[in-house]
Amino acid sequence: MRALIISHQKELYYLYNLETQETVPAKARGKFRLIGTNPKVGDYVEYQMMDDNTAYIVDVEKRHNDLIRPYIANVDQALLLFSVKRPDFNPNLLDRFLAIMTFNNIPCVIIYTKWDLLNEEEQKEMLKICEYYRSIGFPYLAFSTKVPSPNDLDDIKAVIKGKISVITGQSGVGKSSLINCLAPHLNIKTAEISLALGRGKHTTRHVELIPMYDGWVADTPGFGIVDFDSMDEMDLAHSFVEFFEASSECRFNSCLHQNEPGCAVKDKIGTTILPSRYENYLLFLDEISKLRKW
Ligand code: ZN
Repeated sequence: MRALIISHQKELYYLYNLETQETVPAKARGKFRLIGTNPKVGDYVEYQMMDDNTAYIVDVEKRHNDLIRPYIANVDQALLLFSVKRPDFNPNLLDRFLAIMTFNNIPCVIIYTKWDLLNEEEQKEMLKICEYYRSIGFPYLAFSTKVPSPNDLDDIKAVIKGKISVITGQSGVGKSSLINCLAPHLNIKTAEISLALGRGKHTTRHVELIPMYDGWVADTPGFGIVDFDSMDEMDLAHSFVEFFEASSECRFNSCLHQNEPGCAVKDKIGTTILPSRYENYLLFLDEISKLRKW
């Protein structure tokens, strides 16, 4: 039987049977430990019921992506929440998330909140930025306030439908308001699962998938740390999608768009490439080269 792992605590996995829609507690067979791929939340698995009525995971399907922080596989998309004011829009953090998600093959949808805190002029400027990101492959929603309106909620329900999503954002941008609006039942559910798993205080690394509107949203504590520890300079260059596209015209294949002659990316800054994207790229490049000196 095929199932999705929605929660995991020590030896016990909680599976969602994709056919019967039942939740089944299960154990993993010892062989996974031998081959070094323990099943994790987000995995699609095959399981069997044994004579003693215990379910065992017998196979894990190939992952289409695999994150360490949060510890989850097969994420279909990341919803990145950013307020446009209070706290001010943070393009550095946005570019950081976009690069890391792109590197991990995870599409992103940006949700801008608190739009109404901007005056008309500022809204025009912000709209240009939103449209820029959309033009390079990152669609967006814009919420007037921190708490989504009924219309906003309809938009986001359409976005999460049928997918596994992770939601992330700085504090104060409206992440908890959004999750509460999406899942008013959440507190009860979480408590139930927690009880069932005998979950104690060790919740910091714990990830679980919460059913929301025909999709799954990962409740991911500890998503705050975002660094480039598994990427090298070229990975970063390839993870800035519009740079990667332009780089086919760079003179050198290995161009990192710093001081190389004949760089097509540098030529496009301020015309088709947003200058803040390039500034952040250089900062990240520096960060990665420092990390790699260790
Ligand atoms: Zn270049």
